[in-house]
Amino acid sequence: MKITDHLKNAKSTLFSFEILPPLKGQSLKELLEGIAPLMEFKPPFVDVTYHREEFIYKKHPNGLLEKVSTKKRPGTVGICAAIMNRFHVDAVPHLLCGGFTKEETENALIDLNFIGVENVLALRGDAPKTEGKFIPETEGHSFASELVEQIVRMNNGRYLHEETENSFHTEFCIGVAGYPEKHFEAPSLKFDLKYLKEKIDKGAEYIVTQMFFDNKKYFEFVDKVRQAGITVPIIPGIKPIATLGQITNLPRTFFLDLPDDLTDELEKCKTNADVKEVGIAWSVEQCKELIAANVPSLHFYTMSKADTTYKIAKAVF
Ligand code: FAD
Repeated sequence: MKITDHLKNAKSTLFSFEILPPLKGQSLKELLEGIAPLMEFKPPFVDVTYHREEFIYKKHPNGLLEKVSTKKRPGTVGICAAIMNRFHVDAVPHLLCGGFTKEETENALIDLNFIGVENVLALRGDAPKTEGKFIPETEGHSFASELVEQIVRMNNGRYLHEETENSFHTEFCIGVAGYPEKHFEAPSLKFDLKYLKEKIDKGAEYIVTQMFFDNKKYFEFVDKVRQAGITVPIIPGIKPIATLGQITNLPRTFFLDLPDDLTDELEKCKTNADVKEVGIAWSVEQCKELIAANVPSLHFYTMSKADTTYKIAKAVF
């Protein structure tokens, strides 16, 4: 079922979450068993992230460096199929511009359609860590809005290099990313919202936000998005802080602020267990306020670890 239909049919705030494919060489069994307890909260959909290749440099005996491409977390499509079979929920694969030509995107969408996936989250992706800025493939897309456009064309039966419409149409419901604290490359939130609107105008039907720790930022973002003329559902992304390292890593990686009250509590923590406790308590309060504001779904960034999300969901649903 389409995410938009799940949201339309819902009588109250839904529970949903995102997982990462396991590292290469690890089995899927642990991941599926790990998320099984979260099914108690009846998520209508589960997102599966996509990870493009990263580059490493191999030194040859002659001293020359060879750039080698490696993918640490393959398997997004297979995991979607496994989740749908095992839990009978919709799986939402993330699809990137980065690392894909348009032809490869078309083929990936055909695979996804054949396994019964009806929703995709269309994203640009980031530059690999070894490259400073995002560079599209020669025959690829530069921005998520172009990917949205390609998916919509396929929904209308229009494939690449074909002039005529095919009798078979895909019917993907398309989600896109939104940033309450603005995307790090955008010079201003207004600039970012202009291109968020472009993604919606081109056919995206819902927005999932980047994580935030201050609900005020989400509420202000929603107001500004509405003022920009965007009417689609805006699903808030929730990330419980769980380790000492995340206190500095999350702001640095995702370009966001932690509120003073939260930072004050985190500063007192000596161990990861202390941080987890503070993180859970903070997320519970965030979620209660978001539910009271009737948000469409609470979408948890679980990093494939269910324990903290389980405790929060148990406290708020
Ligand atoms: P876009 O919407 O294309 O925007 C990128 C930047 O370009 C923005 O600053 C925007 O303002 C600007 N821009 C857009 N269009 C134009 C234009 N026409 N002209 C000039 N500027 C423009 N990454 C992964 O690798 N895998 C994942 O699975 C993944 N999942 C994610 C899920 C969510 C919910 C979120 C919020 C992010 C996720 N990301 C993921 C990270 C995402 O790929 C990065 O944040 C990336 O840098 C931007 O992606 P986007 O789709 O928002 O890009």
